[in-house]
Amino acid sequence: MASQHRSTTTREATAESTPSETALETARRQLDRVAAQLDVDDAVIERLSHPRAVHEVTVPLERDDGSVEVFTGYRAQHDSVRGPYKGGLRYHPDVTRDECVGLSMWMTWKCAVMDLPFGGAKGGIVVDPKSLSDGEKERLTRRFAQEIRDVIGPNADIPAPDMGTDPQTMAWLMDAYSMQEGETIPGVVTGKPPVIGGSYGREEAPGRSVAIVTRESCNYYDYPLAETTVAVQGFGSVGANAARLLEEWGATIVAVSDVNGGVYDPDGIDVSAIPSHDEEPEAVTRFATELDEGDDVSRISNDDLLELDVDVLVPAAVGNVITADNADAIAADIVVEGANGPTTFAADTILEERGVHVIPDILANAGGVTVSYFEWLQDINRRQWSLERVNEELEAEMKTAWNALKNHVERRDVTWRDAAYAVALDRIGDSHEMRGLWP
Ligand code: NAD
Repeated sequence: MASQHRSTTTREATAESTPSETALETARRQLDRVAAQLDVDDAVIERLSHPRAVHEVTVPLERDDGSVEVFTGYRAQHDSVRGPYKGGLRYHPDVTRDECVGLSMWMTWKCAVMDLPFGGAKGGIVVDPKSLSDGEKERLTRRFAQEIRDVIGPNADIPAPDMGTDPQTMAWLMDAYSMQEGETIPGVVTGKPPVIGGSYGREEAPGRSVAIVTRESCNYYDYPLAETTVAVQGFGSVGANAARLLEEWGATIVAVSDVNGGVYDPDGIDVSAIPSHDEEPEAVTRFATELDEGDDVSRISNDDLLELDVDVLVPAAVGNVITADNADAIAADIVVEGANGPTTFAADTILEERGVHVIPDILANAGGVTVSYFEWLQDINRRQWSLERVNEELEAEMKTAWNALKNHVERRDVTWRDAAYAVALDRIGDSHEMRGLWP
């Protein structure tokens, strides 16, 4: 890549950030930090600091009682130099334009770390999904599909489920899009139910990749799984699947939690006995309230879970949980980021100084987008893969990505996050340079 000094107008990376820093602030700080270490053209970095487009739409919904309410929806498209935009759709009251942009940047890096032919996008609607009946959610989704129809498509931008959306939401979106286009186009979204072109193994894939990467990092740092203790925050799709696989592979899961708090047993919790968030929302809470006096298992708060003296901590619930306020108290030797953005920029610096190995989200939970890529391939080829094939190919892709990062960590003596960004930026930068800036 061309060697140039960074322009003085770009932001300098600093370790000063607040616990409430937005996803966009974190994403930009991470980009600046690694750009300063790399030989990347200033113009490319400047371009990558901004999304290519952010589409803001209003989505009217006729409520079940006949009243009409108007919601705001976004689709942030960050970069598509390596292929169609790819990223989830979130239904949550806290969705903002900036959050969508920050998350879309992470999707660009995530796809590049995995060497997938996709760029990054993210979107959503500012709505509390719990306030919607099934019928309302379907009408809202179909209308949103119509509002963003011009900017999505199997070769343009491919949404997927995220917080507050699920395979059913993707089925409605695909149907609305297909009806308007006049033909069935399953490749417009991923994360669909398998019966309409979804992939087996997609739902479990982010948790599976978290487990694979945890296993690889334990091997690397010489923690035999059979002697490794793990605490998992969040017992949803990512956390529960990762915990169950790690338990199956011999690790001891000493703590799990949901939004209300968690349970802790130094001898290990039988995680297969607790339903995941999807199977029964807040089942960890129920499990905790049913504990008897004298049980080995005790209750623990989400804050205390993060500070447990375990070998591996897997934050797999929400962003910004490891901050400058608690980074000094994190006692785990390895942090594997199951959630997107669980560690603030400032906390990252503290953990690095303390020698805690942080395996970044853009590698750890990338199993989701990787199996989404498999789904897209299956849709294009109109041929479904078996679950065994999906899991085998995911294992191979994760190991290839892990090895690329490992080589970079060893060669350059940098953190795993810096290595992930460097590998991603190298691929994206090279692609931009080869294609050039048009016109
Ligand atoms: P989910 O809704 O299935 O589960 C979330 C879990 O976290 C639940 O157990 C919930 O009770 C708990 N939780 C919610 N708020 C919490 C809080 N403040 N403190 C502690 N626990 C809390 O969600 P998921 O799909 O497992 O996603 C979890 C994280 O992983 C999110 O950051 C998401 O963006 C990221 N992620 C998900 C996927 C995916 O495909 N599911 C892929 C990549 C990344």
